[in-house]
Amino acid sequence: MSNIKTMQMITDERERALLAPYAMHSANTRGRRHAEAAHPYRGPFQRDRDRILHSAAFRRLSDKTQVFTDWNDYHRTRLTHTMEVASIARTIGRALRLNEDLIEALALLHDIGHPPLGHAGEDALAEVLRGHGGFSHNQFALTLVEELEQRYPSFPGLNLSLEVLESQAARADKSNPNAAPLLEAQVVDLADSITYDAHDTDDAVKLELVSLEELHRVPLLAELTEELIRRHGPLEPKPLRKALVHQLIDYQVSDVLAGAGAELIAGNFPSFDAVRAARFRLAPSAVVLARKRELEIFLYNAVYRHEQVMAVRDEGQGRLKELFSVYVKNPDYLPEEFRHRAEGVGLERAAGEYIAGMTDGFCGRQYESYVRGKPRSPAN
Ligand code: MG
Repeated sequence: MSNIKTMQMITDERERALLAPYAMHSANTRGRRHAEAAHPYRGPFQRDRDRILHSAAFRRLSDKTQVFTDWNDYHRTRLTHTMEVASIARTIGRALRLNEDLIEALALLHDIGHPPLGHAGEDALAEVLRGHGGFSHNQFALTLVEELEQRYPSFPGLNLSLEVLESQAARADKSNPNAAPLLEAQVVDLADSITYDAHDTDDAVKLELVSLEELHRVPLLAELTEELIRRHGPLEPKPLRKALVHQLIDYQVSDVLAGAGAELIAGNFPSFDAVRAARFRLAPSAVVLARKRELEIFLYNAVYRHEQVMAVRDEGQGRLKELFSVYVKNPDYLPEEFRHRAEGVGLERAAGEYIAGMTDGFCGRQYESYVRGKPRSPAN
Protein backbone atom coordinates (compact mmCIF):
# COMPACT_ATOMS: atom_id res chain seq x y z
CA MET A 1 0.00 0.00 0.00
CA SER A 2 1.55 3.27 -1.11
CA ASN A 3 -0.04 5.27 1.68
CA ILE A 4 1.60 3.29 4.54
CA LYS A 5 3.62 6.27 5.60
CA THR A 6 0.56 8.49 5.62
CA MET A 7 -1.37 6.03 7.78
CA GLN A 8 1.50 5.75 10.27
CA MET A 9 1.63 9.52 10.43
CA ILE A 10 -2.09 9.54 11.20
CA THR A 11 -1.55 7.16 14.16
CA ASP A 12 1.33 9.29 15.43
CA GLU A 13 -0.52 12.57 14.97
CA ARG A 14 -3.65 11.18 16.58
CA GLU A 15 -1.66 10.04 19.61
CA ARG A 16 0.23 13.32 19.86
CA ALA A 17 -3.10 15.14 19.93
CA LEU A 18 -4.93 12.82 22.32
CA LEU A 19 -2.34 11.27 24.63
CA ALA A 20 -0.42 12.93 27.42
CA PRO A 21 3.36 13.31 26.95
CA TYR A 22 3.87 10.72 29.73
CA ALA A 23 1.81 8.05 27.89
CA MET A 24 3.48 5.25 25.93
CA HIS A 25 3.17 6.58 22.37
CA SER A 26 3.22 4.07 19.51
CA ALA A 27 6.05 6.05 17.89
CA ASN A 28 8.29 5.11 20.86
CA THR A 29 7.81 1.35 20.74
CA ARG A 30 10.98 -0.76 20.73
CA GLY A 31 9.35 -3.06 18.20
CA ARG A 32 9.06 -6.84 18.16
CA ARG A 33 11.46 -9.75 18.66
CA HIS A 34 10.97 -10.79 15.01
CA ALA A 35 11.10 -7.65 12.88
CA GLU A 36 7.92 -6.95 10.92
CA ALA A 37 6.92 -4.15 8.57
CA ALA A 38 4.51 -1.59 10.03
CA HIS A 39 0.86 -2.36 9.36
CA PRO A 40 -0.83 -0.17 6.75
CA TYR A 41 -3.71 1.01 8.94
CA ARG A 42 -3.17 -0.23 12.52
CA GLY A 43 -0.72 1.04 15.11
CA PRO A 44 1.53 -1.51 16.86
CA PHE A 45 -0.54 -1.83 20.03
CA GLN A 46 -3.81 -2.08 18.07
CA ARG A 47 -2.19 -4.95 16.25
CA ASP A 48 -1.14 -6.58 19.55
CA ARG A 49 -4.68 -6.28 20.86
CA ASP A 50 -6.04 -7.94 17.72
CA ARG A 51 -3.47 -10.74 17.86
CA ILE A 52 -4.44 -11.51 21.45
CA LEU A 53 -8.16 -11.30 20.67
CA HIS A 54 -7.78 -13.76 17.77
CA SER A 55 -5.67 -16.27 19.71
CA ALA A 56 -7.07 -19.67 20.70
CA ALA A 57 -6.04 -19.06 24.31
CA PHE A 58 -8.23 -15.93 24.45
CA ARG A 59 -11.30 -17.73 23.10
CA ARG A 60 -10.85 -20.48 25.67
CA LEU A 61 -11.38 -17.92 28.46
CA SER A 62 -15.13 -18.20 27.77
CA ASP A 63 -15.13 -21.64 29.42
CA LYS A 64 -12.68 -21.03 32.23
CA THR A 65 -13.61 -20.47 35.86
CA GLN A 66 -13.15 -17.06 37.45
CA VAL A 67 -14.27 -18.01 40.99
CA PHE A 68 -17.47 -20.01 40.50
CA THR A 69 -17.78 -23.07 38.28
CA ASP A 70 -21.05 -23.79 36.45
CA TRP A 71 -23.42 -22.61 39.21
CA ASN A 72 -25.78 -20.73 36.96
CA ASP A 73 -25.59 -18.47 33.92
CA TYR A 74 -25.12 -15.29 35.93
CA HIS A 75 -21.65 -15.31 37.44
CA ARG A 76 -18.44 -14.18 35.75
CA THR A 77 -16.27 -16.42 33.64
CA ARG A 78 -12.62 -15.64 33.02
CA LEU A 79 -13.70 -14.02 29.73
CA THR A 80 -16.35 -11.69 31.14
CA HIS A 81 -13.97 -10.77 33.97
CA THR A 82 -11.36 -9.91 31.33
CA MET A 83 -13.83 -7.72 29.40
CA GLU A 84 -14.79 -5.88 32.60
CA VAL A 85 -11.11 -5.28 33.36
CA ALA A 86 -10.56 -3.95 29.82
CA SER A 87 -13.54 -1.62 30.15
CA ILE A 88 -12.55 -0.16 33.53
CA ALA A 89 -8.89 0.07 32.52
CA ARG A 90 -9.82 1.99 29.37
CA THR A 91 -11.98 4.36 31.39
CA ILE A 92 -9.08 5.15 33.74
CA GLY A 93 -6.63 5.29 30.83
CA ARG A 94 -8.76 7.73 28.86
CA ALA A 95 -9.22 10.01 31.87
CA LEU A 96 -5.43 10.09 32.32
CA ARG A 97 -4.78 10.38 28.56
CA LEU A 98 -2.80 7.14 28.42
CA ASN A 99 -2.51 4.78 25.44
CA GLU A 100 -5.85 2.94 25.35
CA ASP A 101 -4.73 0.53 22.63
CA LEU A 102 -1.85 -0.65 24.80
CA ILE A 103 -4.13 -0.79 27.85
CA GLU A 104 -6.67 -2.90 26.00
CA ALA A 105 -3.98 -5.29 24.73
CA LEU A 106 -2.60 -5.73 28.26
CA ALA A 107 -6.07 -6.20 29.75
CA LEU A 108 -7.05 -8.86 27.21
CA LEU A 109 -3.72 -10.59 27.86
CA HIS A 110 -3.62 -10.38 31.65
CA ASP A 111 -5.48 -13.64 32.50
CA ILE A 112 -4.88 -15.58 29.29
CA GLY A 113 -2.54 -17.98 31.15
CA HIS A 114 -5.17 -19.12 33.64
CA PRO A 115 -5.58 -22.92 33.68
CA PRO A 116 -9.02 -24.56 33.97
CA LEU A 117 -10.79 -24.29 37.37
CA GLY A 118 -9.36 -20.92 38.34
CA HIS A 119 -6.93 -20.62 41.24
CA ALA A 120 -7.78 -24.19 42.30
CA GLY A 121 -6.41 -25.39 38.96
CA GLU A 122 -3.39 -23.15 39.29
CA ASP A 123 -2.53 -24.49 42.76
CA ALA A 124 -2.94 -28.11 41.61
CA LEU A 125 -0.65 -27.53 38.61
CA ALA A 126 1.92 -25.75 40.78
CA GLU A 127 1.93 -28.81 43.03
CA VAL A 128 2.38 -31.45 40.32
CA LEU A 129 4.97 -29.30 38.51
CA ARG A 130 7.07 -28.72 41.62
CA GLY A 131 10.55 -29.74 40.50
CA HIS A 132 9.51 -29.20 36.88
CA GLY A 133 9.52 -25.41 36.75
CA GLY A 134 6.41 -24.83 38.92
CA PHE A 135 3.38 -23.03 37.55
CA SER A 136 2.10 -19.46 37.60
CA HIS A 137 -0.68 -18.19 35.32
CA ASN A 138 1.14 -14.90 34.77
CA GLN A 139 4.26 -16.71 33.58
CA PHE A 140 2.24 -19.15 31.49
CA ALA A 141 0.62 -16.22 29.64
CA LEU A 142 4.11 -15.46 28.29
CA THR A 143 4.74 -19.11 27.31
CA LEU A 144 1.44 -19.07 25.41
CA VAL A 145 2.04 -15.88 23.47
CA GLU A 146 5.74 -16.49 22.84
CA GLU A 147 5.83 -20.24 22.17
CA LEU A 148 2.60 -22.21 22.17
CA GLU A 149 0.30 -20.12 19.98
CA GLN A 150 1.09 -20.99 16.37
CA ARG A 151 -0.77 -18.57 14.15
CA TYR A 152 1.79 -17.07 11.80
CA PRO A 153 4.05 -18.79 9.28
CA SER A 154 7.16 -16.69 9.95
CA PHE A 155 7.54 -16.91 13.74
CA PRO A 156 6.38 -18.86 16.81
CA GLY A 157 3.90 -17.21 19.16
CA LEU A 158 2.19 -13.89 18.50
CA ASN A 159 5.34 -11.74 18.23
CA LEU A 160 3.82 -9.03 20.41
CA SER A 161 5.47 -5.66 20.98
CA LEU A 162 8.26 -5.70 23.56
CA GLU A 163 6.30 -3.25 25.78
CA VAL A 164 3.44 -5.76 26.01
CA LEU A 165 5.76 -8.67 26.86
CA GLU A 166 7.70 -6.60 29.36
CA SER A 167 4.48 -5.48 31.09
CA GLN A 168 3.22 -9.06 31.39
CA ALA A 169 6.69 -10.13 32.67
CA ALA A 170 6.38 -7.47 35.40
CA ARG A 171 3.05 -9.06 36.44
CA ALA A 172 4.75 -12.44 36.59
CA ASP A 173 7.65 -11.23 38.73
CA LYS A 174 6.62 -8.58 41.23
CA SER A 175 9.74 -9.18 43.32
CA ASN A 176 11.95 -6.72 41.44
CA PRO A 177 12.01 -3.54 43.58
CA ASN A 178 13.54 -1.57 40.70
CA ALA A 179 10.79 -2.41 38.28
CA ALA A 180 8.75 0.57 37.20
CA PRO A 181 5.95 -0.81 35.03
CA LEU A 182 4.54 1.41 32.31
CA LEU A 183 1.57 3.47 33.48
CA GLU A 184 -0.63 1.53 31.06
CA ALA A 185 0.36 -1.73 32.81
CA GLN A 186 -0.28 -0.19 36.24
CA VAL A 187 -3.76 0.85 35.12
CA VAL A 188 -4.56 -2.74 34.14
CA ASP A 189 -3.37 -4.02 37.54
CA LEU A 190 -5.57 -1.46 39.29
CA ALA A 191 -8.57 -2.26 37.09
CA ASP A 192 -8.12 -5.98 37.77
CA SER A 193 -8.38 -5.44 41.51
CA ILE A 194 -11.26 -2.94 41.21
CA THR A 195 -13.12 -5.38 38.99
CA TYR A 196 -12.80 -8.55 41.04
CA ASP A 197 -13.58 -6.83 44.35
CA ALA A 198 -16.83 -5.56 42.79
CA HIS A 199 -17.92 -8.58 40.76
CA ASP A 200 -17.05 -11.18 43.38
CA THR A 201 -19.24 -9.27 45.84
CA ASP A 202 -22.02 -9.22 43.25
CA ASP A 203 -21.71 -12.92 42.32
CA ALA A 204 -21.50 -14.04 45.95
CA VAL A 205 -24.79 -12.31 46.83
CA LYS A 206 -26.50 -13.46 43.64
CA LEU A 207 -25.39 -17.06 44.34
CA GLU A 208 -26.63 -16.67 47.94
CA LEU A 209 -23.26 -17.49 49.49
CA VAL A 210 -23.61 -14.30 51.52
CA SER A 211 -26.58 -12.03 52.22
CA LEU A 212 -26.74 -8.28 51.73
CA GLU A 213 -26.98 -7.98 55.55
CA GLU A 214 -23.72 -9.88 55.95
CA LEU A 215 -22.05 -7.45 53.53
CA HIS A 216 -22.73 -4.70 56.05
CA ARG A 217 -20.07 -6.21 58.28
CA VAL A 218 -17.60 -4.71 55.80
CA PRO A 219 -17.26 -1.01 56.71
CA LEU A 220 -16.87 0.13 53.09
CA LEU A 221 -19.98 -1.73 51.93
CA ALA A 222 -21.99 -0.46 54.91
CA GLU A 223 -20.98 3.12 54.06
CA LEU A 224 -21.75 2.78 50.37
CA THR A 225 -25.14 1.22 51.18
CA GLU A 226 -26.02 4.09 53.53
CA GLU A 227 -25.07 6.57 50.84
CA LEU A 228 -27.29 4.78 48.30
CA ILE A 229 -30.24 4.78 50.69
CA ARG A 230 -29.70 8.48 51.38
CA ARG A 231 -29.80 9.12 47.65
CA HIS A 232 -32.59 6.76 46.54
CA GLY A 233 -34.51 5.91 49.71
CA PRO A 234 -34.94 2.29 50.85
CA LEU A 235 -34.15 -0.20 48.05
CA GLU A 236 -35.31 -3.76 47.44
CA PRO A 237 -32.50 -6.38 47.65
CA LYS A 238 -32.06 -6.83 43.89
CA PRO A 239 -31.71 -3.15 42.90
CA LEU A 240 -29.63 -2.59 46.03
CA ARG A 241 -27.15 -5.32 45.05
CA LYS A 242 -26.79 -3.88 41.56
CA ALA A 243 -26.47 -0.29 42.75
CA LEU A 244 -23.90 -1.35 45.33
CA VAL A 245 -21.69 -2.96 42.68
CA HIS A 246 -21.82 0.16 40.48
CA GLN A 247 -21.05 2.28 43.51
CA LEU A 248 -18.13 0.07 44.50
CA ILE A 249 -16.56 0.46 41.06
CA ASP A 250 -17.18 4.19 40.91
CA TYR A 251 -15.80 4.70 44.42
CA GLN A 252 -12.53 2.97 43.55
CA VAL A 253 -12.08 4.55 40.11
CA SER A 254 -12.86 8.04 41.46
CA ASP A 255 -10.33 7.55 44.25
CA VAL A 256 -7.53 6.64 41.82
CA LEU A 257 -8.33 9.54 39.50
CA ALA A 258 -8.67 12.10 42.30
CA GLY A 259 -5.53 10.91 44.11
CA ALA A 260 -2.68 9.34 42.16
CA GLY A 261 -4.21 10.39 38.82
CA ALA A 262 -4.31 14.08 39.76
CA GLU A 263 -0.75 13.82 41.07
CA LEU A 264 0.37 12.31 37.77
CA ILE A 265 -1.19 15.12 35.75
CA ALA A 266 0.27 17.76 38.08
CA GLY A 267 3.71 16.15 37.74
CA ASN A 268 4.03 17.42 34.14
CA PHE A 269 6.25 14.51 33.16
CA PRO A 270 7.62 15.19 29.68
CA SER A 271 7.81 11.53 28.56
CA PHE A 272 7.08 7.95 29.55
CA ASP A 273 10.79 7.61 30.34
CA ALA A 274 10.63 10.48 32.82
CA VAL A 275 7.63 9.02 34.64
CA ARG A 276 9.37 5.67 34.73
CA ALA A 277 12.62 7.15 36.07
CA ALA A 278 10.58 8.79 38.86
CA ARG A 279 9.06 5.32 39.60
CA PHE A 280 5.67 6.90 39.68
CA ARG A 281 3.03 4.56 41.10
CA LEU A 282 -0.65 4.73 40.29
CA ALA A 283 -2.22 3.32 43.44
CA PRO A 284 -5.37 3.73 45.50
CA SER A 285 -5.20 6.20 48.40
CA ALA A 286 -4.14 4.79 51.79
CA VAL A 287 -7.74 5.04 53.05
CA VAL A 288 -9.17 3.12 50.11
CA LEU A 289 -6.37 0.57 50.25
CA ALA A 290 -7.26 -0.18 53.88
CA ARG A 291 -10.97 -0.37 53.01
CA LYS A 292 -10.26 -2.72 50.11
CA ARG A 293 -8.19 -4.93 52.38
CA GLU A 294 -11.14 -5.30 54.78
CA LEU A 295 -13.40 -6.21 51.86
CA GLU A 296 -10.88 -8.71 50.49
CA ILE A 297 -10.48 -10.42 53.87
CA PHE A 298 -14.27 -10.72 54.04
CA LEU A 299 -14.43 -12.14 50.48
CA TYR A 300 -11.65 -14.58 51.28
CA ASN A 301 -13.33 -15.99 54.37
CA ALA A 302 -16.98 -15.77 53.38
CA VAL A 303 -16.74 -16.50 49.66
CA TYR A 304 -13.46 -18.01 48.39
CA ARG A 305 -13.34 -20.32 51.42
CA HIS A 306 -17.10 -20.99 51.50
CA GLU A 307 -17.71 -24.73 51.92
CA GLN A 308 -19.56 -25.02 48.60
CA VAL A 309 -16.71 -23.27 46.76
CA MET A 310 -14.16 -25.43 48.61
CA ALA A 311 -15.97 -28.64 47.70
CA VAL A 312 -15.84 -27.75 43.99
CA ARG A 313 -12.21 -26.75 44.44
CA ASP A 314 -11.15 -30.01 46.11
CA GLU A 315 -12.92 -32.18 43.58
CA GLY A 316 -11.50 -30.24 40.64
CA GLN A 317 -7.97 -30.37 42.01
CA GLY A 318 -8.20 -34.14 42.49
CA ARG A 319 -9.38 -34.61 38.91
CA LEU A 320 -6.70 -32.39 37.49
CA LYS A 321 -3.91 -34.21 39.34
CA GLU A 322 -5.24 -37.60 38.25
CA LEU A 323 -5.41 -36.46 34.64
CA PHE A 324 -1.82 -35.20 34.90
CA SER A 325 -0.50 -38.53 36.15
CA VAL A 326 -2.38 -40.42 33.44
CA TYR A 327 -0.70 -38.26 30.75
CA VAL A 328 2.72 -38.72 32.32
CA LYS A 329 2.23 -42.51 32.40
CA ASN A 330 0.77 -42.56 28.87
CA PRO A 331 2.44 -39.82 26.81
CA ASP A 332 0.72 -41.16 23.69
CA TYR A 333 -2.55 -39.65 25.04
CA LEU A 334 -1.03 -36.20 24.47
CA PRO A 335 -1.54 -34.46 21.12
CA GLU A 336 1.40 -34.68 18.75
CA GLU A 337 2.63 -31.12 19.34
CA PHE A 338 2.87 -31.67 23.10
CA ARG A 339 4.66 -35.02 22.66
CA HIS A 340 7.12 -33.12 20.51
CA ARG A 341 7.36 -30.32 23.08
CA ALA A 342 8.13 -32.89 25.80
CA GLU A 343 11.45 -33.58 24.04
CA GLY A 344 12.52 -30.01 24.81
CA VAL A 345 10.85 -29.14 28.14
CA GLY A 346 10.34 -32.61 29.66
CA LEU A 347 7.23 -34.77 29.78
CA GLU A 348 5.84 -33.41 33.05
CA ARG A 349 6.14 -29.82 31.91
CA ALA A 350 4.55 -30.56 28.51
CA ALA A 351 1.66 -32.46 30.15
CA GLY A 352 1.14 -29.58 32.62
CA GLU A 353 1.15 -27.01 29.81
CA TYR A 354 -1.34 -29.06 27.83
CA ILE A 355 -3.69 -29.15 30.84
CA ALA A 356 -3.12 -25.45 31.57
CA GLY A 357 -4.38 -24.54 28.10
CA MET A 358 -7.62 -26.48 28.49
CA THR A 359 -11.07 -25.07 29.14
CA ASP A 360 -12.98 -26.40 32.16
CA GLY A 361 -15.26 -28.37 29.81
CA PHE A 362 -12.46 -29.94 27.76
CA CYS A 363 -10.56 -30.82 30.94
CA GLY A 364 -13.70 -32.56 32.29
CA ARG A 365 -14.15 -34.51 29.06
CA GLN A 366 -10.49 -35.54 29.02
CA TYR A 367 -10.87 -36.72 32.60
CA GLU A 368 -13.94 -38.78 31.72
CA SER A 369 -12.15 -40.36 28.74
CA TYR A 370 -8.69 -41.01 30.10
CA VAL A 371 -9.17 -41.43 33.82
CA ARG A 372 -12.69 -42.78 34.10
CA GLY A 373 -13.34 -44.50 30.82
CA LYS A 374 -12.12 -45.66 27.51
CA PRO A 375 -9.38 -43.53 26.00
CA ARG A 376 -10.12 -41.76 22.75
CA SER A 377 -7.85 -39.77 20.49
CA PRO A 378 -6.94 -36.37 21.84
CA ALA A 379 -8.79 -33.46 20.25
CA ASN A 380 -6.88 -30.41 19.18
MG1 MG B 1 -7.74 -10.84 36.41
